Amino acid sequence: MSRFNTLKGVQDICPPDVLIWQEIERTAREVFHVYGFGEIKIPIIEYTDLFVRSIGGDTDIVEKEMYTFTDRGGRSITLRPEGTASVVRCYVENHMHNLPSPQKFYYSGPMFRYERPQKGRFRQFYQIGAEAFASESPRCDAEMLSMVNNILLRLSIGNLRLEINSIGCKVCRPRYREALVSYFSEKEDNLCTDCKTRLRSNPLRLLDCKIETCVPLKADAPLIPDYLCDGCKSHHERLKELLAACNVNFYENPLIVRGLDYYTKTTFEVTTEHLGAQKAVAAGGRYDYLVKEFGGPATAAIGFAMGMERLAALMSENPPKDSAALPIYFAPLGQRAETITLSLSEKLRAGGLGVEPGDGATLLKSHMKKADKLNAAFVVIVGDEELDKGYGTWRRLSDGTQGEIALDCPDVVDNFLRLARCPEEPVR
Ligand code: ATP
Ligand code: MG
Repeated sequence: MSRFNTLKGVQDICPPDVLIWQEIERTAREVFHVYGFGEIKIPIIEYTDLFVRSIGGDTDIVEKEMYTFTDRGGRSITLRPEGTASVVRCYVENHMHNLPSPQKFYYSGPMFRYERPQKGRFRQFYQIGAEAFASESPRCDAEMLSMVNNILLRLSIGNLRLEINSIGCKVCRPRYREALVSYFSEKEDNLCTDCKTRLRSNPLRLLDCKIETCVPLKADAPLIPDYLCDGCKSHHERLKELLAACNVNFYENPLIVRGLDYYTKTTFEVTTEHLGAQKAVAAGGRYDYLVKEFGGPATAAIGFAMGMERLAALMSENPPKDSAALPIYFAPLGQRAETITLSLSEKLRAGGLGVEPGDGATLLKSHMKKADKLNAAFVVIVGDEELDKGYGTWRRLSDGTQGEIALDCPDVVDNFLRLARCPEEPVR
C-alpha cells in the first residue's frame, strides 16, 4: 500500500459530501445557542492518564482502542478518544465552577479509536457533543435530551429511537452490581472471555456484550430499575414527565448501561436501524462524580456526543443544496478585460458576493462551458465592445436571458448584488 493513502479507518471529507457535514455543524450550533450552550475548544492530545482515570481501565476504549504514544519528553500521550474527559479537565483547571451556573458547553472535532474499520466505524471520526455542569435537576436531563432531539429533527433524520435508562448512584448501584455478579457467576462457564473479566472488573458491562453466545444469557438478568434508590427513582420518573412535557418521544431500555465508567443516573442512546451493525448515532448520560474525581468541587453534570459520520450517512440520501453555488462568473475576452474584471471581482468579493473571474486568454465558448461546470448563476461577458461602452453583458444560465450591467459606477457593488439575487426571477 502506498504511503500516500489515508490510513485505514481514516477518510477525507471532500465536496460535495462536506456540504452535509457543514449542514450538521450549522444546525447543531444554532440549536446549541438557543439552549444557552457556548463553544469550547479542547485539545486533541492529553495525558493518557486523563482517559484511563475517567473512562475507566476496564473499558474497551482504554483496553483496546486508544492511540497512545510516548512524546519526546517521555510522557505518555493519547489522541482523545472522546470529549467529555477533556471538557471536565478544562472545567476544573480553569475554575469554571465560578461562572454563573448552569455552565453549558459544546465542542466538535475528531476523535481517535483503534477499532476495526467498517461501515459507520472509523479510527478517526468526528463528534459533536455538549456538557452541562452544576445542575442535579432532572430538568437539565430533559433539556439536554430535547436539545438532541431538536438537532436531529432539524436535520430531518427520521426513524430514530431515543432509549433512556437510569444506572443509579453510589447508593443503589453496589446492590445491583452484587445481584448481577451473583446471576452471571452461575453462567460463568458459558460467558465469552471478555465477559469473564467483566464479571470481576465491571459487571454492568456484561449487559452491553453483543457476542452471540452471551446475548441469550442476559435474558433473565436482574434489571436496574428494580434496584434504584428512592432518589434515583424519583429523578427518573420526573425526567419522564418532563420529556413528555417537551414532546420528546422515548423508550425505556434497562440494558442501556454505556461502555464508560463515569456515568450515574440517566443514560441514553439514540439509535437507527438504517446503518447496519452501527446503530448508535448519539449517546450520553449524567456523570455526577467526575468533576470531584478530577479535583474540582462536587458538581453534577450531564453530556452527550453524536457521531458525524453516522449522521452524514443518514442524510446522504437527501443532501442539502449547495447554497455556495457560484453567483457570478466573469468571462473576460483579452487582457484589458481580464484586468478590469479581476479588479471588479475583488470589490464584489469584499461586498460579500461569490465571484469567479475567468482568464482573459479563454475563448467565449470555453468560458461558457466552464461557467456551466461551476454551476454559475450568471456569466458576465466583457469583450472590447463592452469595455468601450463601460458595460458588461450578463447572461443568466438557467434561461439564457441577457442584459447589460455597468462595470464602473458608484453603485457597481449594489447593482451586482441585486443581479445575483435574481437567479430565477425577472431581473429589474
Ligand atoms: P458504539 O457502540 O457504536 O461503539 P460507543 O458507545 O462506543 O458507540 P460513544 O463513545 O458513546 O460511542 O460515542 C458517541 C457517538 O460517537 C456514537 O453514538 C457514534 O455515533 C459515534 N462513534 C463512536 N465510535 C465511533 C467510531 N469508531 N466511528 C464513527 N463513529 C463513532
Ligand atoms: Mg465503541
